[in-house]
Amino acid sequence: MNRIEVSHLIKNYGSNEVLKDLDLTVGDNEVVVMIGPSGSGKSTFLRCLNRLEEPTSGEIIVDGYNLSDPKSDLNQIREKIGMVFQHFNLFKNLTVAENITLAPVELGKMTPAEAKETAKKLLETVGLSEKFDAKPQSLSGGQKQRVAIARALAMKPDILLFDEPTSALDPEMVGDVLAVMKRLAKEGMTMVVVTHEMGFAKEVADRVIFMADGHIVEQGTPQEIFDTPQNERTKDFLNKVL
Ligand code: ADP
Ligand code: MG
Repeated sequence: MNRIEVSHLIKNYGSNEVLKDLDLTVGDNEVVVMIGPSGSGKSTFLRCLNRLEEPTSGEIIVDGYNLSDPKSDLNQIREKIGMVFQHFNLFKNLTVAENITLAPVELGKMTPAEAKETAKKLLETVGLSEKFDAKPQSLSGGQKQRVAIARALAMKPDILLFDEPTSALDPEMVGDVLAVMKRLAKEGMTMVVVTHEMGFAKEVADRVIFMADGHIVEQGTPQEIFDTPQNERTKDFLNKVL
């Protein structure tokens, strides 16, 4: 089964063509890592997948739902597809637990008591049990990001999207966040991860996609992309980042 099917996706901002006819399929339990230079359209692509951006044209099917079909319930689709951002986007005036319980309770997916139990379990999973009642400002960047992951998981998503989840972190925090992501991958979560962490890509990705200038230039196993890249632009990019 495919979790995500994208065909002929085009996204323009005014006259700026940002995504130029992208095709991509992501299978169940698959971990896809997207790499590529800044400005190549990686974030825009992720944002189209959960409809934070409206595509100019093309088709996106998530879990069998066609995002561009007016009959599709976008909120229902968004519940299946969690997103973790570079800058965490936690609610500053809520506690850690409240950040996690807010959406499931508001959307009627859980009672407050169930959500609280879920928050406890998820905080254990990300190694932050003792931060249940803490406010986000008292947390380090790495801890905030792990709370953001727990918050996304509270909705029991089928798919998680990560947009440079470790890029805003001090180097010593990166490992803890990547460890949580690795465990999710191992447990079978379907994930699309935009990252500059090439070690993570090598170790965890089922497939690596190199994007440049709104195109998928090349894709393959980590071995294929990192050891024997075929395209000059891929080689050039890897020479700069490795
Ligand atoms: P990446 O994540 O690979 O760095 P982005 O998807 O953020 O790339 O950006 C791709 C291109 O789209 C850039 O040229 C950027 O300036 C442009 N862009 C992104 N978001 C917007 C927006 N909301 N309005 C106008 N242009 C945008
Ligand atoms: Mg980006």
